Amino acid sequence: MEFALTPRLAELKRRAAGLAEKIMPYEDACEADNGLPPEALAAIREEVLASGLQAINMPAEWGGAGLSVLEQAVVQDELGKLTNALWDTVWRPANCLRAATPEQRERYLLPGIQGRCRDAVAITEADAGSDPSGIATTAEPDGDGYVINGEKWFVTVGDAADFLIVLANVRTGAGEEAGGEGAPTLFIIDKDHPGVTLKRTPRYTHTFVYEHPEFVFEDVRVGADAVLGGVGQGYELTRDWFTEERLMIGARTIGAAERALSLATEWARGRTQGGEPLINRQLIQGMLADSVVDIATNRALTHQVAWEFDQADGSERGRKLLHAKAATVKLAASEASNRVADRAQQIFGGRGYMRDYPVERIWRELRVDRIWEGTSEIQRLVIANEIDKRGLPGLLSFRTEA
Ligand SMILES: Cc1cc2nc3c(=O)[nH]c(=O)nc-3n(C[C@H](O)[C@H](O)[C@H](O)COP(=O)(O)OP(=O)(O)OC[C@H]3O[C@@H](n4cnc5c(N)ncnc54)[C@H](O)[C@@H]3O)c2cc1C
Repeated sequence: MEFALTPRLAELKRRAAGLAEKIMPYEDACEADNGLPPEALAAIREEVLASGLQAINMPAEWGGAGLSVLEQAVVQDELGKLTNALWDTVWRPANCLRAATPEQRERYLLPGIQGRCRDAVAITEADAGSDPSGIATTAEPDGDGYVINGEKWFVTVGDAADFLIVLANVRTGAGEEAGGEGAPTLFIIDKDHPGVTLKRTPRYTHTFVYEHPEFVFEDVRVGADAVLGGVGQGYELTRDWFTEERLMIGARTIGAAERALSLATEWARGRTQGGEPLINRQLIQGMLADSVVDIATNRALTHQVAWEFDQADGSERGRKLLHAKAATVKLAASEASNRVADRAQQIFGGRGYMRDYPVERIWRELRVDRIWEGTSEIQRLVIANEIDKRGLPGLLSFRTEA
């Protein structure tokens, strides 16, 4: 068993830390102005390309950085230290775009990898969140294409995106009389396509570099070439994407927690109350120590499971186990990092409640990691389902070499 970062991983970690350092100066402006102007985003794009960390999840032969899952986790851990979700300016096209046809790849994915266009994923609806099988968006077959109608909520990067990846039920006739809604399918739809309207841009708890608007699709006519990965493949493609994304959330939240703890430690050393630096107070020491435990244990678990992803044998059983292990990582790391941020804020006292202190922003921003990409409750259900179906041994053991 080997726990050392290889020279390659150490170099990637340094490179990601260097990129985060270049992006960090934009945090205050992003907070103050609720986003960044095009010039700032263009300057960040240049930094991302110079770092070679663009599209880390996409193969090198397509222009991505072509990193393994463990390598991606190491990079995300560093980028997670950025507030205002500036980690999202280091673009990673949605994993499900790997299923693109050669034509779709040419038109959408390759420019996306180069940072010349962006995707946004539109699955959630007003009445379908944790349970996407409740979606009401439909794709009615029409000639050699489809007509799409529906409404999507919380579309992250929807303001900056050029195209949307939309989950809709293709009406097949089969099973619909029995209550089924047809075949869940992903469609690639240009944002400026006739019938697509950005309806509303709500305000959220965090100040995110992009928005999460709502979209309406009204008689949106698309060709059969808009289908991503095949009719009826919608859940399969999103499940695989969620699995890796949940690991990346684990990694990012741990990076954020480390930054919060570093800031709180520095503050506790420098701040004197009642004649003693805060760091000499045992109640403060307890909070710092508990935070080290939260970060160290979750970083180790995240790295272990990311490594297991890279060793996957491709079997259905293996896929299901990794799905549950990624849920374990997301649940543990997001909950732990929220605890760390809460303690760090407490150590800062009143300043921890001021938006110009990064520790306040980390506290506010980490909250959503317990909600999106499956709430903490849904992660528990995934884990419990694995316990029930295949038992505890897979979940509790390290992968054994074949
Ligand atoms: C900032 C932000 C960005 C987002 N970005 C995107 C995006 O880009 N694309 C996209 O498609 N979606 C996005 N989402 C949506 C997100 O994935 C959903 O909000 C999330 O899956 C929860 O769904 P919901 O909000 O409908 O809550 P609900 O599903 O209504 O859940 C409400 C509560 O009930 C609990 N609950 C639900 N089902 C069960 C159950 N079976 N057992 C026990 N408890 C249960 C939940 O855990 C939660 O506590 C985003 C959300 C936010 C807040």
